[in-house]
Amino acid sequence: MTSFVYSQKPIRIERGEGPYLYGEDGTEYLDFGASYACVPLGHSHPAVTAAATDQLERLTYVQGSYPVAARDALTEGLSGLAPGDAEYVWLCNSGTEANEAALKFARSATGSTKFVATMQGFHGRTMGTLSTTWKKKYREPFEPLIEDVEFVPYGDAEALDEAVDEDTAGFIVEPIQGEGGINPGTKKYLRAAREITDEAGAALIADEVQTGLGRTGTLWATEHAGVTPDVTTSAKGLANGLPIGATMCKEWIAEGAGPHGSTFSGGPVVCAAADATLSVLEDEDVPAHAAETGEYLTSELDAALGDAVREIRGTGLMTGIEVKRGSNRVLRDLAIDHSVLALPAGRTVLRLLPPLTIEQEHVDRVVEAISATLTGETAETAGTTEATR
Ligand SMILES: *Cc1c(COP(=O)(O)O)cnc(C)c1O
Repeated sequence: MTSFVYSQKPIRIERGEGPYLYGEDGTEYLDFGASYACVPLGHSHPAVTAAATDQLERLTYVQGSYPVAARDALTEGLSGLAPGDAEYVWLCNSGTEANEAALKFARSATGSTKFVATMQGFHGRTMGTLSTTWKKKYREPFEPLIEDVEFVPYGDAEALDEAVDEDTAGFIVEPIQGEGGINPGTKKYLRAAREITDEAGAALIADEVQTGLGRTGTLWATEHAGVTPDVTTSAKGLANGLPIGATMCKEWIAEGAGPHGSTFSGGPVVCAAADATLSVLEDEDVPAHAAETGEYLTSELDAALGDAVREIRGTGLMTGIEVKRGSNRVLRDLAIDHSVLALPAGRTVLRLLPPLTIEQEHVDRVVEAISATLTGETAETAGTTEATR
């Protein structure tokens, strides 16, 4: 049997600790992608490992219809942290599932069918969420998808106002587009989105799968705009590396939600890991640390890169660097020549989503590596391939 779908990188990883990954050959890599933002507290965080291990030994799994302490603790913890007055949560196993549920609940709660989504937006790859994901390459081979979706330019409140009407179930939007190139939504735009959806009786669905959990310097990115969505979704880093997703809903959505389910929903081990993750995020005020370190990162990048790049954008520790050549080539050079791992966001953007617990020394090392790579100080490399993820 051969595993497929993902192309395999030429680096085999054996273990991880904090911001570092270690190859089988002993090489230490600085993971400035936090493995797709899935380890906000760094790799193999001891508090999360302890909580998950303890739960594994006591009870690995029981069906979701039996109350268990680990799930109760997580839902209670979340109710203190969820955006605005979202008091209801559906737990699942991934970002696409969290968004899939959001779309279903928005339809059943509003009785409307249409969705509005944004150009360059990314919400997942199951058939429902894929319908609201912009990139043609991801969608076309699987069409027909949900046809009642209208894409509007990201950041354009007027276009949004025109698209959202009384037949709209929901507008799904990332507060900062991740996969689409690190495009921040302005406060004004997000506030307009709140007003427009309110007026039409449609659900505002904030996809915080990538922006949430302190990454942008506040626990949820919509906090910057003072906007409370009807539904907020989380996943990726919520259990610091174990698979989980959450759909947090206001009452009117939860009350109108149709039947839904998933066997592993709210399993005790991931709940214990997520509860431990949230505790560390809160106790150590990790979002504030991310805000501070993010500012340092941006100013150091600005100073070091100058004209070598087209633009540096983002908030907190969600940073995009628009480069002047293919991002995959730059990423390869960073990994091979400097043992620094980062991510692409489209063909020309380097995406930095480091663990939120990094310190200035890690920033310094990465800025130096990126600077050396982009200003051409490294040796010419040959045989580049169009590697994906
Ligand atoms: C990663 C991501 C998803 C999909 O999450 P999966 O766990 O891969 O299904 C959805 N929305 C956003 C904004 C993401 O970054």
